[in-house]
Amino acid sequence: MKFSYISHLHCPKCREKYEFNIIQQLCACGSPLLVDYDLQELRKRWDPAALAGRSNDLWRYHELLPVTDPDNIVTLGEGMTPLLRMDRLGAAMGIGQLWMKDEGVIPTGSFKARGAAVGVSKAKELAVQELAMPTNGNAGAAWSLYAARAGIRATIVMPVGAPEITRNECAISGANLYLVNGLISDAGQIVGQAVKEYGLFDASTLKEPYRIEGKKTMGLEIVEQLQWKVPDVILYPTGGGVGLIGIYKALKELIELGWIEDKLPRLVAVQAAGCAPIVKAWEEGKSVSEFWENSATAAFGINVPKALGDFLVLEAIYDSGGCAVAIDDDALLKELETIASLEGAFVCPEGAATFAAARQLREGGWIKEGETVIALNTGSGIKYPETVKVQVPVLEPGARLSRR
Ligand SMILES: [Zn+2]
Repeated sequence: MKFSYISHLHCPKCREKYEFNIIQQLCACGSPLLVDYDLQELRKRWDPAALAGRSNDLWRYHELLPVTDPDNIVTLGEGMTPLLRMDRLGAAMGIGQLWMKDEGVIPTGSFKARGAAVGVSKAKELAVQELAMPTNGNAGAAWSLYAARAGIRATIVMPVGAPEITRNECAISGANLYLVNGLISDAGQIVGQAVKEYGLFDASTLKEPYRIEGKKTMGLEIVEQLQWKVPDVILYPTGGGVGLIGIYKALKELIELGWIEDKLPRLVAVQAAGCAPIVKAWEEGKSVSEFWENSATAAFGINVPKALGDFLVLEAIYDSGGCAVAIDDDALLKELETIASLEGAFVCPEGAATFAAARQLREGGWIKEGETVIALNTGSGIKYPETVKVQVPVLEPGARLSRR
């Protein structure tokens, strides 16, 4: 058995093939590259029983990951996050089988750890010395921390409006951190210039092929946690959309391996009403999105006006019979409170948006009562202390409580 069954990279736009054992960024045609595995060979040698007794993290799926030598793995124990039933919330929404895949319980407190673990490990395997990336906060934090563990230097540019804790995570890990008075798209331009000028490895979303392979493991875990059953619907908060593309890719690979039935869950891209380019494109039946002007939302992680992989996100939605939904900030902030008060889960604003979308889709009849619905919470609510405003009574010592 080989450790990884990676075979090559391919361009989903022009179909050009690339080698995996040297540094690759975008295809010559400008498209992101995707990783291929020798699934025919793997199908003969691998089955779910082989996972028994393996480490309870995302590296349990190493045959379907791109790192070829286990010595190059850079891990903080990421993966196998809880898949939790949300019975009280589901009952309130009229959804019989509502589950939360809780990515708040992972190193760095957000699902970005998955892409960083696999991306940084592969960068180490390819002898990368220094990487650079723009970020809305959590990805930069995760990549800084994993890069520090790998001994790789990191240069990170994020909007001044990004969550402050993510700045601190970058800074404490020793990254070269810069803030930009603008959006992630502005940060991206600055990083692009630095990459050209100084020959840095570009770790921007989808500009290296391996982050998506880390994100893919969310899809692998969801079906393993459901005993290799495919749910009816998966809702995903969509900025760059890498997780949604990754989940789609994971399930297609499992179908080819014969591990699950030949059926996809309906994939739902959830965006904020203040930044909804994928929703607009989907509503218009288009295969690419347009740049969303003057974007703004409380769910900072999904404030991405134009995603490089938009055509892949839209393909996953169309092919799975899914949809795209925009949620306004009031609705997602209200949902955030409802989730905490009914289920004891303090989710991030982006995660709250997926539940608000589930509620909306159930009300409109798109989700049927008995369907199995998975909402992704992509990070811990405690990383966003500014989201919740509270007023509490202050007592003097010796005071008596009045019953409220
Ligand atoms: Zn191409």
